[in-house]
Amino acid sequence: MNPFHYSKPVDVSQAISLAGAASRFIAGGTNLLDLMKENVARPEHLIDITGLPLKDVRETANGGLMIGALVSNADLAWHPLVEARYPLLSQAILAGASPQLRNMASTGGNLLQRTRCYYFYDAAVPCNKREPGSGCPAKDGLNRIHAILGASDNCVATHPSDMCVALAALDAVVHVEGRGGKRTIEFADFHRLPEDAPQRDNQLADDELITAIELPPQGFVEHSHYLKIRDRASYAFALVSVAAALELDGDIIRDVRLALGGVAHKPWRDKAVEQTLKGQPVSRENFVAAAEAMLRDARPLEHNAFKIKLAQRAIVRALSDAATGGKA
Ligand SMILES: Cc1cc2nc3c(=O)[nH]c(=O)nc-3n(C[C@H](O)[C@H](O)[C@H](O)COP(=O)(O)OP(=O)(O)OC[C@H]3O[C@@H](n4cnc5c(N)ncnc54)[C@H](O)[C@@H]3O)c2cc1C
Repeated sequence: MNPFHYSKPVDVSQAISLAGAASRFIAGGTNLLDLMKENVARPEHLIDITGLPLKDVRETANGGLMIGALVSNADLAWHPLVEARYPLLSQAILAGASPQLRNMASTGGNLLQRTRCYYFYDAAVPCNKREPGSGCPAKDGLNRIHAILGASDNCVATHPSDMCVALAALDAVVHVEGRGGKRTIEFADFHRLPEDAPQRDNQLADDELITAIELPPQGFVEHSHYLKIRDRASYAFALVSVAAALELDGDIIRDVRLALGGVAHKPWRDKAVEQTLKGQPVSRENFVAAAEAMLRDARPLEHNAFKIKLAQRAIVRALSDAATGGKA
């Protein structure tokens, strides 16, 4: 690990004034410290944000929720308003990591956790995400856990978060603040596809701090389900995950959200596919058709073609479980 400066600001403007290309904010530290120990992240300055007043969950005027960036994953999953109004989010968070990690991990940090690509974590091999222009050994290497959608020649890594898949489905909004002021970013636009700049995971500037995540009022309380498929029953990242949410009128689908994890560099939504389900009855045939459409552009690598069928079946199951409200 390289030497670094350490600061602990007491308010947001102080934290932002210290931020820059060579610095990193640190919250729970559950990802950043691992990256520093592996020599993958080498910040010159750590800005400890755990003293900032960003730990509240409060209701918004329109009936949604504003979640402070430093609310822990555990506190968020078990928060009574989240459990009651956004069960999809609680389920997704509790499907991730372990209780100890969820106690430490923050909401903002979860969005910015980095890929679990083996080559990214191994500083002895090339990686375009770590060293732009150096190459991507995953493309022709061990790529069982890698992307089947939206990848580029430069990078086939996936985004590993469970929470973010639910936030994508729920149309969350990310609130950020930097030296240029405050702005909001729609969740669908927050994370990037790798294209020709895989070193950039998201749209944040170096001096920008995530201050909160806003959830709109629609929480799909009656009909939602998060399904995570992984190699072990716990403490493993998703091979494929699905956040499915339905608003039903009898058996007619009035609204639907479908987001996939483990398949791309960002949580994967396809609004055109969602549109095809609207106004249709709940049926296995309609869910199968949506699942096939959702994966129509999938491009497997040597070792991950199994993810296509796995994702399609997971979509059908997650939608079916959402439709029955878990009472199949
Ligand atoms: C063994 C293990 C298993 C795991 N399993 C899963 C899993 O199954 N599913 C899953 O979803 N996750 C899993 N995780 C990942 C875990 O959820 C993340 O490490 C955690 O959410 C990151 O939050 P943190 O507060 O610890 O972030 P930190 O490590 O403190 O920071 C991560 C990044 O976010 C930046 N950052 C943090 N807060 C802010 C902010 N407010 N504004 C701007 N930048 C910020 C930091 O600069 C850093 O770049 C696992 C982690 C480990 C170690």
